Amino acid sequence: QAVEHHRREPSQLLQILIETQDGIGHLPPASLTRIADLLDLPRSRVEGVAGFYSFLHMEPVGRYRILFSDNIIDRMLGSRGLMESLCRLLEVAPGEVSADGAVSVDTTSCTGMGDQGPAILVNGLAVTRLDEARVERIASLVRAGTPLADWPADYLHVDDNIRRRGALLGEDFVPGAALQAAMARGRQGWLEEVRISGLRGRGGAGFTTAVKWMACRDAPGADKVVVCNADEGEPGTFKDRVLLASQAERIFEGMTLAAWATGARQGLLYLRGEYRYLLKHLRAVLALRRAAGLLGARILGEGGFDFDIDIHLGAGAYVCGEETALLESLEGKRGTPRIRPPFPVTHGYLGRPTVVNNVETLAKTTLIAVQGGAAFAATGTPQSTGTKLLSISGDCAYPGVYEYPFGVTIEHVLEDCGAHDPQVVQVGGASGVTIAGHEFHRRIAFEDVPTAGAFMVFDGRRDPFEMARNFVHFFAHESCGFCTPCRVGTALLKGYMDKLASGKGAKMDLADIEWLDRLLKNASHCGLGSSAPNPVIDTLIKFRPAYERRLVSLDFKPAFDLDAALETARRMTGRDDPAAHLDWREEV
Ligand code: SF4
Repeated sequence: QAVEHHRREPSQLLQILIETQDGIGHLPPASLTRIADLLDLPRSRVEGVAGFYSFLHMEPVGRYRILFSDNIIDRMLGSRGLMESLCRLLEVAPGEVSADGAVSVDTTSCTGMGDQGPAILVNGLAVTRLDEARVERIASLVRAGTPLADWPADYLHVDDNIRRRGALLGEDFVPGAALQAAMARGRQGWLEEVRISGLRGRGGAGFTTAVKWMACRDAPGADKVVVCNADEGEPGTFKDRVLLASQAERIFEGMTLAAWATGARQGLLYLRGEYRYLLKHLRAVLALRRAAGLLGARILGEGGFDFDIDIHLGAGAYVCGEETALLESLEGKRGTPRIRPPFPVTHGYLGRPTVVNNVETLAKTTLIAVQGGAAFAATGTPQSTGTKLLSISGDCAYPGVYEYPFGVTIEHVLEDCGAHDPQVVQVGGASGVTIAGHEFHRRIAFEDVPTAGAFMVFDGRRDPFEMARNFVHFFAHESCGFCTPCRVGTALLKGYMDKLASGKGAKMDLADIEWLDRLLKNASHCGLGSSAPNPVIDTLIKFRPAYERRLVSLDFKPAFDLDAALETARRMTGRDDPAAHLDWREEV
């Protein structure tokens, strides 16, 4: 059924697998074989895709599949204890399925609810603000087999938590107004406004939007594509979630503005699997726009252009936030980053010229269309124009989404969000920058502290080492495994951090960590691998005592205690003389 629904299109493989799993609970071997036959694909390709995404599973899971968000912020809010409580109440071990098949409980990477955690996903839908009372109630709902639709509505409610509004979040938007203004300028005139605005991508890399759009417009081929990257998976970020929930009209209009500039006729929004609760809302907005003549054939009437948008769902793979991995995923493949060049602007989705922009970037283009590029550039700094949305979480009184002009200082943001005694701010998520107290005067801007949006606050009670260790575990888990330096390097880094945490570290381990940093930075195939050591190296430089107090030796110390392991042999042989111990030295 799912195969037919997607017109037997191999590029729809991921969507077909998601829908098949929704229907029968998991992806048994027979289903994979059938899908491969119907799509005329090698079965290994189908199984390879099914095995890549963490939300797809080939083995049965519980009828309620509960996944605890394992972000450091959720942990600070008590997620681990709550997971233990739920497992105890439901008599199921973490990572296992209960004996009656009713429930399975496990962890997943950040679910994008850092402002209202601890959070879980239940059959893919977010449940927020967990506490012991909610956990007890959830246990009884699961035991009673209550359908999710009948769970208390506030459990499944996700707040926007908008705390500070600027031009994007503060101004009313009339659907179609930006499009009319841009079309009145003509394609070239519209592109010129985007150039004047100085708009840079809000997804992290900060590439100039006008340059990207012009490159796509000038690329050979009439079948151009606009892709909205709504796969924000960086731990600690959730501002795109809020934009998707509250500003969907602006996002879709921004995609249409990009289509007007580049000549694209097809648009794709890649929605991260953790946000599938927004799917219904987004589809409803798309339907409204089609009915209003803002999407489809001859947009805005006679003389208009053709453009429409589809939504694709991700399935739990952080690496798909990287634009070429996202394109692979959109094509129904494993999310393995591509070798560049060629770049997506000439060879993107299905080899066609493609513009990939972040949610916030596209929403911002509606401001430029209405106000003009110069007015947009009047806010922020010369190299970082306009405003930036921050997702603020952690040790502060008012977590949520804040919109600031670029150039705002970190100390200003800390004051606004009610952070007392802040010790560390992790800006830009796990792959970002660790900012210590003496750097709080620094500014959020591409030329100083760049960020895709995450702003995680850690006060004096927190241990920067444990923060870095959590991030390293995240990277080791999310490495796609394609290239050896990252696949092995992140696992080794995790091993070193665990060794230090267990109190068996030695100075030599710190030197090895620094060597791994160079290896990962220089030899990784994509940004995930090259940025994985960032939090460790930053904290090693700025909080070295947090590492040194974990060292037991200045030389080498193995993680494995060989002498202790020989204890069984000593007992069996009845020996406990000095020569039966490793540190024994025969006198000569
Ligand atoms: Fe995959 Fe890591 Fe290599 Fe990127 S660096 S391609 S995530 S293994």
